[in-house]
Amino acid sequence: MDIHEYQAKEILSKFGVTVPSGGLAYSPEQAAYRARELGGNRWIVKAQVHAGGRGKAGGVKLCSSEHEIQDATNEMFGRKLVTHQTGPEGKGIYRVYVENAVDFNREIYLGFVLDRTSQRVMIVASSEGGMEIEDISASKPESIVRSTVEPAVGLQEFQAREIAFALGIPTSLTQQMVRTLQGCYRAFRELDATMVEINPLVITTDNRILALDAKMTFDGNALFRHPQVAELRDKSQEDPREARAADRGLAYIGLAGNIGCIVNGAGLAMATMDTIKLAGGEPANFLDIGGGATPERVAKAFRLVMSDENVQAILVNIFAGINRCDWVAEGVVQALKANPVDVPVIVRLAGTNVEEGQKILAQSGLPIIRAGSLMEAAERAVGAWKNDQKQNTKMRAI
Ligand code: GDP
Ligand code: MN
Repeated sequence: MDIHEYQAKEILSKFGVTVPSGGLAYSPEQAAYRARELGGNRWIVKAQVHAGGRGKAGGVKLCSSEHEIQDATNEMFGRKLVTHQTGPEGKGIYRVYVENAVDFNREIYLGFVLDRTSQRVMIVASSEGGMEIEDISASKPESIVRSTVEPAVGLQEFQAREIAFALGIPTSLTQQMVRTLQGCYRAFRELDATMVEINPLVITTDNRILALDAKMTFDGNALFRHPQVAELRDKSQEDPREARAADRGLAYIGLAGNIGCIVNGAGLAMATMDTIKLAGGEPANFLDIGGGATPERVAKAFRLVMSDENVQAILVNIFAGINRCDWVAEGVVQALKANPVDVPVIVRLAGTNVEEGQKILAQSGLPIIRAGSLMEAAERAVGAWKNDQKQNTKMRAI
């Protein structure tokens, strides 16, 4: 789960990272009011969206009067910000953050990520801050400092000092840099983050280390341990299909194709998507309904998949190990009787009690297309979708 910059700054400041003073606003008037509260005569107005690259896309503006702040935020509110990280549809701007502008001499990149190879938290830093890390690694790979943290002892002071030296931080600021690094690391560990990024971390002209930007991502599966973090979720920034699925406890990722997938098990879901592609189609989603596959879950899954208007065929692929195919078939039949769908439904069952399952589907009287193998199921789904496209008579009513 992603959070906003202002939220990440608030968290990190509690862990000892220094950030500029700022205030949140939901309207241009409030933004101007925040500036007055903050005092000073130059402010940075920043669109709060779950994406980086705002600076280049017009989402970060330097203003020197309340009037300018009103104008800048009038431009932003209600608009979609399209950055290289948002995709062409962009993300809606509903909040802005107003901060006192600061003057700085140097910009540093600082990132904390999970490194799967070493199975450790890895610190990635560069003296070439301001740019995206991908650009830095392409144009100035020698500037990147990497350091992994031994989890048993955490980030030690000597290790943090080494990073500070490698980045060429002036010795008068080493201690502040150590505190910043250790604060980020502790926030990462204690809150089950998967990413902490400060870009840029700056050295101000009055010789302070300040986080001008902050990004944090959290492990969704650990949110139950951190209700105060879970509360920070902003659904306006998420794919609405994925937000709905998360509310229903389903693992769903929306994709651009038109064959909806209802599958139990993440591995099987991946294999199903591959097979659809092999058969010449494009999956509309990844969906793992979990092991249970009860009628209620299957019904929820159908509703979710059908809420995507690109879906033109649905492939249900269930492998019953602990489960039983007859129960799952019953679930599919109940779900379709309660919520009829107007696209072809292809069902492939395998595993325990498969014959009974097939019988239930066959006797249901529903126009379910049954398939024996996964390849056959995928071919039939792609075939049904292409057929449907040809007829082009589809009417949808949800
Ligand atoms: P991003 O583009 O989404 O990563 O947004 P940032 O918060 O990183 O802002 C983009 C750029 O705006 C930064 O790299 C800075 O160069 C600049 N910037 C942000 N805050 C300030 C500030 O207080 N003073 C000055 N002079 N520049 C700032
Ligand atoms: Mn940034």
